[in-house]
Amino acid sequence: TSYGFRQVADGEKQGLVNQVFHKVAKRYDIMNDVMSMGMHRAWKDAMISALNPRREPGYKVLDVAGGTGDIAFRIVEASGRQAHATVLDINGSMLGVGAERAEKKKLSGNLTFVEANAEELPFEAGSFDAYTIAFGIRNVPRIDVALSEAYRVLKRGGRLLVLEFSEVEMPLLDKIYDAWSFNAIPQFGKAITGDAEPYQYLVESIRKFPNQENFAAMIRQAGFSRVTYTNYTGGIAALHSGWKL
Ligand code: SAM
Repeated sequence: TSYGFRQVADGEKQGLVNQVFHKVAKRYDIMNDVMSMGMHRAWKDAMISALNPRREPGYKVLDVAGGTGDIAFRIVEASGRQAHATVLDINGSMLGVGAERAEKKKLSGNLTFVEANAEELPFEAGSFDAYTIAFGIRNVPRIDVALSEAYRVLKRGGRLLVLEFSEVEMPLLDKIYDAWSFNAIPQFGKAITGDAEPYQYLVESIRKFPNQENFAAMIRQAGFSRVTYTNYTGGIAALHSGWKL
């Protein structure tokens, strides 16, 4: 089935993505738990363990498509509240929810929220020790441009980590996953937010995203070295890693 999102131009795609996240911002966190059956928490924790942020004040991380702050909060906490994280997102509604959550968690002093596009980062070259992006890069129309921007803003020796839905590489699990995502997710979306379409878009965008090997090749193409990936939950999600050497 096509939901009408297939043949859209880049500019138009970004417009649709923005509508989706404006609509869901307030319910985003609860929907994440429902749609992933809580698994996104474990995947995010594993991403932060892989990053192993330095416990020093000068350590600077850029979390792109940072939305409501899940990754940035975890990084700041894992660094013993030493690191500084910049949460960048194209969507002010998502950042608004993130800033409120940060206040409640008393983490605001370690965070900066920036509304901008992953394809055009408003930072100088060599600004960050790490660049993270979780469940965000598949929404960006020009992934190659976002990856070159990641490379540019990292310091030499800096780390790229990308957490994204990927290709399920376990027999049977792939069938269960298909049933879950094509039927259950849009229906839950409708029940909770009153609208199934944003969730249909999300499911479609996962299907269209390159698999583990192809995405690793794109990361290498952008200039990164020592590119590797780790599957989580049979490949439902994968963490890609690269270094700017
Ligand atoms: N990283 C968060 C997490 O893991 O919970 C949020 C992920 S959410 C699925 C995807 C986010 O990507 C949304 O907040 C959306 O606004 C953002 N986004 C989409 N296109 C973007 C772009 N071109 N530049 C920056 N952020 C973008």
